[in-house]
Amino acid sequence: MQLSFSPAEEKIREVAREFALKEVAPLAEEIDKQGRYPMETVQKMVKVGFTGIGVPEEYGGSGGDEVTKAIVVEELAKKCGSTAAILSIQGILAQAILNFGTEEQKQFYLPQLTSGGKIGAFALTEPNAGSDAGAVRTRAVKDGDDYVITGTKCFITSGGQADYVLVFALTEPAKGLRGMSAILVAKGTPGFSVGKVEDKMGIRASETVELIFDNCRVPQSNLLGKEGKGFSIAMILLDGARIGVAAQALGLAQGALDESVKYMKERSQFGGPIARLQGLQWYIAEMATKTEAARWLMYRAASLKAQGLPHSKEAAMAKLNASENARFVTNLALQIHGGYGFMTDYPLERMLRDAKITEIYEGTSEIHKVVISRAVLG
Ligand SMILES: Cc1cc2nc3c(=O)[nH]c(=O)nc-3n(C[C@H](O)[C@H](O)[C@H](O)COP(=O)(O)OP(=O)(O)OC[C@H]3O[C@@H](n4cnc5c(N)ncnc54)[C@H](O)[C@@H]3O)c2cc1C
Repeated sequence: MQLSFSPAEEKIREVAREFALKEVAPLAEEIDKQGRYPMETVQKMVKVGFTGIGVPEEYGGSGGDEVTKAIVVEELAKKCGSTAAILSIQGILAQAILNFGTEEQKQFYLPQLTSGGKIGAFALTEPNAGSDAGAVRTRAVKDGDDYVITGTKCFITSGGQADYVLVFALTEPAKGLRGMSAILVAKGTPGFSVGKVEDKMGIRASETVELIFDNCRVPQSNLLGKEGKGFSIAMILLDGARIGVAAQALGLAQGALDESVKYMKERSQFGGPIARLQGLQWYIAEMATKTEAARWLMYRAASLKAQGLPHSKEAAMAKLNASENARFVTNLALQIHGGYGFMTDYPLERMLRDAKITEIYEGTSEIHKVVISRAVLG
């Protein structure tokens, strides 16, 4: 058993760390305050190859696997939760096409989504279908060689920026979950529009929007995978996406811990640095220990996925643990910064706000407990 990173993985961490420091950290506060999608940073991530991780070079990707991806997301999240979230979601559409697309779809979409600078989104959630994803009501009715899609998706990350959206819709409603299909819809298709843009507590620079499909006609060749397999495609993609959220949560926790260590050595009260106060030292011990545990649970799940081994339970455990830890650590980190932590001049309040979403999206903590308990109880 090995619990170490390869030289290639250490190298990508170095590249990601430097990128986060030079390109992500300087914008983090501004884009959070403005709630602005950082297209300029996204295009820089395209140039350095981050958007192509996990996709073979023959399709415009940069190679690497789930571990490589998690390393980059972790490093980005140390400085900006929004940027890390944007990269994670971008990867889901590419993975969907790589795993379920025809050769023609791979050759058409993947180079655009990896090295071509096009943006992707994953649209499953609806106003009445959140945790209960099987309650999706969006319809895709066959008409000649087309599907005509009607329905509303909500809370879709990068939805307003997306050039391509993977939409989950019922092609045969009578069949329930087995009547759901995954269909690709391109920006600009008549009948497809962006509705409400959400104003959020955290990850404010990762755009979250409503998508409206009103008799939106797409060719049947836009179907991804087999008709009726949409729900199982969504669940498989979510298993991978949960590792991405766990990596975001890990990065936020590690970033907040790093800030706290620095601050405790600088800040002086009662005649010396607050780092000498045992009450705060114990906070650091707990934060560091729990974060290390979250790290290895997450990289274990990533490593299982990279080896093509079952990872559904492990991804759920990693996400549940890392997200709860991110809230715990960012909250204590703010506490360590006292009143300054509460001010927007410091990144702690942003980190705490950004950490909260990791307990909600790609499945809430409660849903993860359902997944884990089912796997354990059988
Ligand atoms: C910022 C943001 C970005 C998002 N991005 C995307 C995206 O890109 N694509 C996409 O498709 N979706 C996206 N989502 C949707 C997200 O995945 C859902 O919000 C999430 O799955 C929860 O669904 P819900 O909000 O409808 O809550 P609900 O399902 O209504 O849950 C309400 C409460 O009930 C609990 N609950 C529900 N069922 C159970 C159960 N069986 N047992 C115990 N407790 C239960 C939940 O845990 C929660 O506490 C995003 C959401 C947010 C907030």
